[in-house]
Amino acid sequence: MFSDKEQFKEVFLRKLEMTYGKSVEETSKRDQFHVLGMMVREYISKDWIKSAEKARTSKSKQVYYLSIEYLPGRFLGNNLLNLGITGLIKDGLNDLGIDLAEIEDHEADAGLGNGGLGRLAACFLDSLASLSLPGHGCGIRYKHGLFEQKFVDGFQVELPEQWLRHGFVWEVRKPDLAEEIPFWGTVESYSDGGRLKFRHIDAVKVLAVPYDVPVVGYQNKTVNTLRLWSAEPSPVPWQKDIMKYKRETEAVTEFLYPNDTHDEGKILRLKQQYFLVAATLKSIVGTFRKKYKDIHRFHEMVGLHINDTHPVLAIPELMRILIDEENLTWDEAWKITTQCISYTNHTTLSEALEKWPVRILAPLLPRIYMIIHEINERYCQELWQEYPGNWNHIEQMAIIAHGEIRMAHLAIAGSFSVNGVAKLHTEILKTREMQNFYKLYPDKFNNKTNGITHRRWLMKANPELSGLITEAIGDGWKKSPEELEMLNQFDNDEAFLRRLREVKRTKKHQLADRIHKNTGLKVNVDSIFDVQVKRLHAYKRQLLNVFHILYVYNRMKEDKQYKPYPRTFIFGAKASPGYYYAKKVIKLINSVAEKVNSDCEVNKYIQVIFLENYNVSLAEEIFPATEVSEQISTASKEASGTGNMKFMMNGALTIGTLDGANVEMEERLGRDNIFIFGLHADQVLNYLSNGGYSPYDYYHGDERIQLICNQLINGFFPNSSDQFEAIFDSLLTENDQFFVLRDFASYISTQRKVEAAYQDEKSWSKKSLKNIAMSGFFSSDRTVKEYADEIWKIQTI
Ligand SMILES: *Cc1c(COP(=O)(O)O)cnc(C)c1O
Repeated sequence: MFSDKEQFKEVFLRKLEMTYGKSVEETSKRDQFHVLGMMVREYISKDWIKSAEKARTSKSKQVYYLSIEYLPGRFLGNNLLNLGITGLIKDGLNDLGIDLAEIEDHEADAGLGNGGLGRLAACFLDSLASLSLPGHGCGIRYKHGLFEQKFVDGFQVELPEQWLRHGFVWEVRKPDLAEEIPFWGTVESYSDGGRLKFRHIDAVKVLAVPYDVPVVGYQNKTVNTLRLWSAEPSPVPWQKDIMKYKRETEAVTEFLYPNDTHDEGKILRLKQQYFLVAATLKSIVGTFRKKYKDIHRFHEMVGLHINDTHPVLAIPELMRILIDEENLTWDEAWKITTQCISYTNHTTLSEALEKWPVRILAPLLPRIYMIIHEINERYCQELWQEYPGNWNHIEQMAIIAHGEIRMAHLAIAGSFSVNGVAKLHTEILKTREMQNFYKLYPDKFNNKTNGITHRRWLMKANPELSGLITEAIGDGWKKSPEELEMLNQFDNDEAFLRRLREVKRTKKHQLADRIHKNTGLKVNVDSIFDVQVKRLHAYKRQLLNVFHILYVYNRMKEDKQYKPYPRTFIFGAKASPGYYYAKKVIKLINSVAEKVNSDCEVNKYIQVIFLENYNVSLAEEIFPATEVSEQISTASKEASGTGNMKFMMNGALTIGTLDGANVEMEERLGRDNIFIFGLHADQVLNYLSNGGYSPYDYYHGDERIQLICNQLINGFFPNSSDQFEAIFDSLLTENDQFFVLRDFASYISTQRKVEAAYQDEKSWSKKSLKNIAMSGFFSSDRTVKEYADEIWKIQTI
């Protein structure tokens, strides 16, 4: 079907006609997308069946990656790239007068995640398949993904997301593989040949139906599976409240919770977590049972990785299966479970640490609660052996305390590997947040610095740069991204550096067109494109960026001679709907944009653009066009970041704190190729534990700061005089928890260095080249290889 262009055209036209009964000219772009998608899926199916067959029959260990979120974005372009047929299809469609890019635009983003955590899971799936590793994704098929964001009068408004409205061509529904998941009810004990056993009775059952999505490896014939579970009513006898039952079952997978690094503690969320874990484990144990006789070898053949604590109920659920259904003893079951499960920690923010009240979990999952309770009893006995009489210490480390279940403690106790996501983050886990656990189980702790797939974020998002790179160093880097280092030899090649600038300019033009299309605003393509795109959060400090913009604005107003180098400040950020402060910052950015963009003294030099609805597809247009990447979180707060890596790989220079993976970027780049400012993590952590920071000192001691803070509350922003009091208070009344005022001076002076450096065109291009050349380490292929070798112990098939 895709062996040559002519054949492709013929099949495409025939299928379009057959499916829609219209001629090509009459079909819509969406019709064309749908038919092309079906053709590609058909093309994938042979390899998909073969890969599944291998997974089923080979005696090699399989890994299942459990994640409550996946943020893959669109599949068409990525699948064409990995199948190696982009060129052929593009040419074939061209002959028919159809633009492939326009068709791609009709695919809805699969936005089944909030931000970094879900995007990481999607990058890992791409790398697992591309490395031919037997690793599969397990998740939830939310009917509505992350909300769509609109701005109304500068305020965020959330609309329900509708990615399934026109169907999802890549999925295959597998109703025969549905599983029943029990909630509520009670546990009864019974005697089985003299042995005390338990069963869950009178449960309300929800049917979990799997939808499989192919995950295509890069030109290697491997096609792994992402299995997404959808909740439906179970076939139950007719009852009075049948409508209520239908609504309540379907509600389980209706919405993705829109909280990023924040835990809400709602019962529906707990249902989602157990639903994912129970459905996944039923299907894995079923597959295992068909293949092997001896359940005692389960952990040798199966690895279960939990992405953060959301799927941590996999631990008690596997215990339940092994004890209640497979008739193992507690000790046997515990040995298998703890050798199966590995856990990634994503944050040390206390508001993100999941805790479930016993009064919520116990009635919903009575047998699971019994098991967690027993795990806690035995674990506290172990602690007692280690710290006899030290009740305080034991209470601090317990899994259940003060009526709450601490999911991270359960994850550490029930797994053989606990990893952080960047060197600094892992060090903070070991020496601070989890030091008690590290002392007890030093061998469990390890680091796996995050990565991003260079296929989507460089090859697909930036074909112009990929082409230039391949011209220079061949295409070995596509399979071995560390070969990007070969680019270092062009460090002094004027012609090459000029072409690098031309590529950036092309991508800036494309982004400028997108900005014009989305906002109606025209931006200056000769200005520095300075970008901060990520979820809106106090610790990410979009506010510090805003303070810099207001500083430049105020200085221009005060000194008419002052002309900054032209710069376009670009933002993209969604705020969790219930996060009051974050929504205020969104309004503030929009207010600053209005102020700046409408002032003709200022807008020739600086402009502020806030793009609505930041998502993967928009991200793919933004990263390649960026020159300055804002990675300015309060040191110690950003576990890793992955946006930082996407920018680096596309030749942007970073202005950032020594936080998360920025530290490792700096290690590789050297001080000259990244702009580092601000407090270090240990300074921040010292302030937080010992005090000694007074934002008032900075407010009174720096006129620039004082002016900007006052502008938040003195009517400087028309029609919003009391709008930003909460932000003002967060800085002064609430002691500026994220050290915005403390880092202000350092940030401003570093921004002046950025501005100066940009004007030395050649030197800037060299720095940009260095960023691209050193970015291979941050490919998720490297990350996933480390997981495979050091945690999962799985091999290429
Ligand atoms: C990469 C990415 C993120 C994570 O960005 P950070 O800057 O690391 O927080 C969030 N959302 C989308 C759409 C992304 O592509």
